[in-house]
Amino acid sequence: MTIGNKKQIIVVGAGIAGVSTALWLQRFGENVTLMDRSEPGEGTSFGNAGVLAACSITPVTAPKMIPKIPGYLLNPDFPLYVIWQKLPFLAPFLVRYLLNANDDDTRRISRGLTEIVADSVVQHRDLAHGTKAEQWLQDSKYIFAYESRKAFENDGYVWSIRTEAGFEPQIVEGQEVREILPGTSNSINLLAVMDSHGFVLNPGQYVKDLATTFREQGGTFIKARVKDFSKVDGKINSVETDQGSFDCTDLVITAGIWSRDLMKKLGLTVPMESERGYHILFRSPSIVPPCPVMVASGKFVMTPMAIGLRCAGILEFGGLTAPPSKKPLEIIKRHVRNTYPDLEWEDTEEWLGHRPAPCDSLPFIGEVGESRIYTGFGHHHIGLTGGPKTGRILAELIANDQYMIDISPYFPRRFS
Ligand SMILES: Cc1cc2nc3c(=O)[nH]c(=O)nc-3n(C[C@H](O)[C@H](O)[C@H](O)COP(=O)(O)OP(=O)(O)OC[C@H]3O[C@@H](n4cnc5c(N)ncnc54)[C@H](O)[C@@H]3O)c2cc1C
Repeated sequence: MTIGNKKQIIVVGAGIAGVSTALWLQRFGENVTLMDRSEPGEGTSFGNAGVLAACSITPVTAPKMIPKIPGYLLNPDFPLYVIWQKLPFLAPFLVRYLLNANDDDTRRISRGLTEIVADSVVQHRDLAHGTKAEQWLQDSKYIFAYESRKAFENDGYVWSIRTEAGFEPQIVEGQEVREILPGTSNSINLLAVMDSHGFVLNPGQYVKDLATTFREQGGTFIKARVKDFSKVDGKINSVETDQGSFDCTDLVITAGIWSRDLMKKLGLTVPMESERGYHILFRSPSIVPPCPVMVASGKFVMTPMAIGLRCAGILEFGGLTAPPSKKPLEIIKRHVRNTYPDLEWEDTEEWLGHRPAPCDSLPFIGEVGESRIYTGFGHHHIGLTGGPKTGRILAELIANDQYMIDISPYFPRRFS
């Protein structure tokens, strides 16, 4: 259905990717309806570590990791887990995922991720400019904290890729470590400090405030669970929900990990799994770092948010339906205690989230053929960072027929 000459665009999923898309489309003068089964910002965008991780340009699948995996899984202190009962379902995905654990694919993926995340602080500032959400953005450094120089050197491959892309860390050792991170124990002895990063002081509220601006400026938000779609002559025609059917000329799927099932209904199989992750929020903490700190040995980030000290990360494969596991939360607690032995707090919140991880670690961004169905999902660890640029790319494409960047690495049909 068109109103005058205008498109009628439906965006499904009001996380950071969907809200960014809706806001940019609105700025380009389009008529947009944003839909979510919950209120905005309550999916994975709610509970992340909040880092605008401009330098996070390497995938989990690093070269030479395959022979190390049994050792990782047998080590109770290593932050990688599998829910074994789910392995038969996960195995086909994991095989395709691990096929990328080589130098060529890592470099290819890294080039693709760099386009999406490297200018993320500017992208967030542009998106949030003039909205209530701006208050949650904080420019900062991003620190990677290591036990030792040897542990840092073990990550040498990743650092060489970051450095080649222009992200060179300043290395700090000795007494200066304690000056930058007061209160940390001697389990931290080397910092790789990155300038020109940022973080979000309350990620869930940030997305909600962006969505509020969208509504205040005349955008429509409908709380509805999308169940199916209909097409006419291969082009999207309507969206079926538990609140009825809604006509549209253009459809954008930004439903995070849940996009996989929606895409299946639209006739496209996307190889994507949940990389489950966890957070513990320590409310009223007695000490916080000055900026987000990635504790390299625990693969989680400690971020000084407006709502407390959020410690978020860990990687667990186990699908969407299994309840939270105990071990990942225990390992975060152990590492936090190890890093800040004197930390005190009032109470805690624990959370499980689902990073939408395509098997090649590149998001799906673009139009599915000429169906007027667009995708904006699959950002795994970097979805908060890359959501605003993804939304802008899609809005430019839909509203202005413009390509902001070469989007061929992200084509939604690249696996068909
Ligand atoms: C522990 C952890 C830490 C992280 N830390 C960071 C970080 O520091 N920096 C970073 O950049 N990224 C981080 N991430 C990743 C980031 O949070 C995600 O990549 C990002 O939030 C994905 O956003 P999204 O908009 O694609 O999906 P989501 O935020 O999940 O939004 C999808 C929306 O779709 C809706 N939906 C689903 N199905 C339907 C349906 N059928 N009908 C209607 N609505 C539907 C859901 O309700 C949801 O609101 C982290 C993730 C985790 C788990």
